[in-house]
Amino acid sequence: MSTASPHAGRPEALLEVRDLGMTFPGPRGSLRRRAGIRAVDGVSFDVHPGETLGLVGESGCGKSTTGRMLVRLLDPTAGRVAFRGQDITRTGQRELRPLRSRLQMIFQDPFASLNPRQTVRQIIAAPLRAQGESAQAIRREVRDLVGLVGLAPEHLERYPHQFSGGQAQRIGIARALATRPELVVADEPVSALDVSIQAQIVGLLERLQRELGVAYVFIAHDLAVVRHISHRVAVMYLGRIVEIGERQQVYGNPAHPYTRALLSAVPLPEPAAERARERIVLLGDPPSPADPPSGCTFHPRCPKARELCRTEPPLLRLTAPDGTRQAACHFPEV
Ligand code: SF4
Repeated sequence: MSTASPHAGRPEALLEVRDLGMTFPGPRGSLRRRAGIRAVDGVSFDVHPGETLGLVGESGCGKSTTGRMLVRLLDPTAGRVAFRGQDITRTGQRELRPLRSRLQMIFQDPFASLNPRQTVRQIIAAPLRAQGESAQAIRREVRDLVGLVGLAPEHLERYPHQFSGGQAQRIGIARALATRPELVVADEPVSALDVSIQAQIVGLLERLQRELGVAYVFIAHDLAVVRHISHRVAVMYLGRIVEIGERQQVYGNPAHPYTRALLSAVPLPEPAAERARERIVLLGDPPSPADPPSGCTFHPRCPKARELCRTEPPLLRLTAPDGTRQAACHFPEV
């Protein structure tokens, strides 16, 4: 399990995300068409070299849309993203090209993200070729990369369909790491895999972080997996961050009622602890971002909601005296 955040004592950020937003057009002919649907709204965080920030929340909360904006697979409609101090929010594709090698992505479905007509060698070599590496250097690098992710040299001439899901994800990881990126956005990289394979891939990502110093934004709905790999955690609800802080704080003493409810549903390894703990059952499904509730958007499902919550949206505020944790709640648990 990852220990204390490696950025402790190093204030410079690798990635700075400020007030990031994505508004999609509403359905044709609807009253929402012009106002649009806010999938992501006012998201801000930093990622530091060599650390893992976990981004969690239920399906549809905007975490994957956020991840895609970080690497400019989607263009934000608001806010900005700076990588190593350079604003990349509206950088043209040509200027973005040199940055692509330093900022990579791993996808949820490894098979969908690998070209079925290319061999593993061709897949992993593609980003190196795009960088203009020599044929000899590419051959050496590709061989090293398959070893690094635990595949064998004989796998190099095979095609994606000849692999299991876990092996295919290893190929996706090798491709993402080929250019030695400083930051990898991993979007649900283990959710399509069996539990035993999940542990192997998470272990592999941790080892690669130790060896290469790469930082991750690790997006997942599984809080147990996020707990294992993350140094810090951001919890999203309906397009916004509702709590962000060091992993020990967020998991050990969650400040936001939504985080509390999510954590209360994570199975505990000890049967006695599992029997003793209180489950917080949320009312209903998450509301649609096309028609968000007034005030705190969590209020229709929140067991602690009061009158103020129905009218006043809470701001993301510091709840820990040392400045390491923020929550968007009028009545946080502290
Ligand atoms: Fe619940 Fe109110 Fe806090 Fe929102 S602001 S999470 S409704 S207590």
